[in-house]
Amino acid sequence: MEDNRNISTPDEELEKTEERTEPDATTADSDGKTAETQDPSEDEDEYERVCMLCRRPESKVSYMLDMPDHLCICSDCAKKTMEPFVTGELDLGKLFENMPPNVSMIQFMGPNMGEIPQRQKLKKKKPKEEVQELPLAERLKKLPAPHQIKASLDEYVVGQEYAKKVMSVAVYNHYKRVESGTMDDIEIEKSNMLMIGPTGSGKTYMVKTLAKLLDVPLAIADATSLTEAGYIGDDIESVVTKLLAAADNDVEKAEKGIIFIDEIDKIAKKRNANQRDVSGESVQQGMLKLLEGSEIEVPVGANSKNAMVPLATVNTKNILFICGGAFPELEDVIKERLNKQASIGFRADLKDKYDEDPNLLQKVTVEDIRKFGMIPEFLGRLPVIFSLEALTKEMLVKILKEPKNAILKQYQKLLALDEVDLQFEDGALEAIAEKAMEKDTGARALRAIIEEIMLDIMYEIPKDDNIGRVIITEAYIRGTGGPRIIPRGGM
Ligand code: ADP
Repeated sequence: MEDNRNISTPDEELEKTEERTEPDATTADSDGKTAETQDPSEDEDEYERVCMLCRRPESKVSYMLDMPDHLCICSDCAKKTMEPFVTGELDLGKLFENMPPNVSMIQFMGPNMGEIPQRQKLKKKKPKEEVQELPLAERLKKLPAPHQIKASLDEYVVGQEYAKKVMSVAVYNHYKRVESGTMDDIEIEKSNMLMIGPTGSGKTYMVKTLAKLLDVPLAIADATSLTEAGYIGDDIESVVTKLLAAADNDVEKAEKGIIFIDEIDKIAKKRNANQRDVSGESVQQGMLKLLEGSEIEVPVGANSKNAMVPLATVNTKNILFICGGAFPELEDVIKERLNKQASIGFRADLKDKYDEDPNLLQKVTVEDIRKFGMIPEFLGRLPVIFSLEALTKEMLVKILKEPKNAILKQYQKLLALDEVDLQFEDGALEAIAEKAMEKDTGARALRAIIEEIMLDIMYEIPKDDNIGRVIITEAYIRGTGGPRIIPRGGM
């Protein structure tokens, strides 16, 4: 198939995806100017006009009046403002008597009046007739097929074959559903996902890679920070605000984006609790309408709704929600179920069979997760459930050297700029992997370990122009020797 599909990704940009989800960050444009200081007239056509008083965008008001200095006021606010003059409460003549000559409207009303920060500007919706829609068949052809999505994931993610396959199919189906809209009575269900996997097994990484490959905006949120509206914390709808920020305040783009909610297991109902557990369960309840698809009114470029922030309406119908969590005690629930099954009849002797199984999570069922504390309505809205494997030593070694942007490749490139060749003995890689296994934080520990061992090397090497090659030995990692340094002539 052709190459105009959305699969192309410079590795470094993966990191940027997350940065962009920060609604409070001031974005810098290509000139290096911060968006806050940008001339408001520059992109005037691209963004909606916003009422200087109530801050509603033009799509939300009946009529917008233009005023000098790029200010706008909506018909409602204009009417309210004029009322005291009409009723005679205030005298317009007296008001202007007090206004010094040669003063602009902005100077008169105060420096912050009417000024809309860039991050709060909403992109205008394109008029229907201007959007040149390709026929459905062509649009579907442009979608990357599951095997292509998986092949691209393979370049970055080690192992997790099953998870990559499930995700590729689910994502493909999701975007097929988005493209086809509701053509007939058979409505295709949303493919929201629930990923279960130990810490550091690549959940966030897979979602980030996927969003990058598909070139869709991504927002990452932590379930623990979410609360019901009205409580301290981010309310649930703030995830949509984040997505809108990641889509550069373009509502249409955000409506096709991905929202990843991590640590979803932390909002499980407490098992064996006597009182009603309000926090977790109510957050799950609150997420239901978001997952299913509804119109949400969100503040643009701010965390909370208030009179000074423009509001945008985002429909979550086509937003793909991916929830992830480590579900630490889920294994016990699964074991209990399996043991119960095993204790029936002739399989009774297999009772301890599952105790040592490292991939017990793969045997998970919806019923197990429900027992863990997720409410059935919530699970019903996440039809694609799958688990990731726990990373083995071999996988960790591969993660070090094989992915397109592997850590070793990054260090090799850094040293190559100093014309030094960096090599790692196989034993050294295994020793690093063993050290990482001890920390029990999956692949996350790898970078910290490598950074520690590379610090001295990165410090010493630029001192000596004669060094041509550095070999990181197993002994160096285990603390019983040093790296092998080979001078340029001796290679
Ligand atoms: P979690 O499962 O806790 O969300 P992350 O996705 O944040 O874990 O993984 C942490 C880091 O470990 C990632 O940034 C990535 O570099 C690396 N990593 C984890 N799993 C894999 C994997 N299967 N393949 C390649 N890199 C991985």
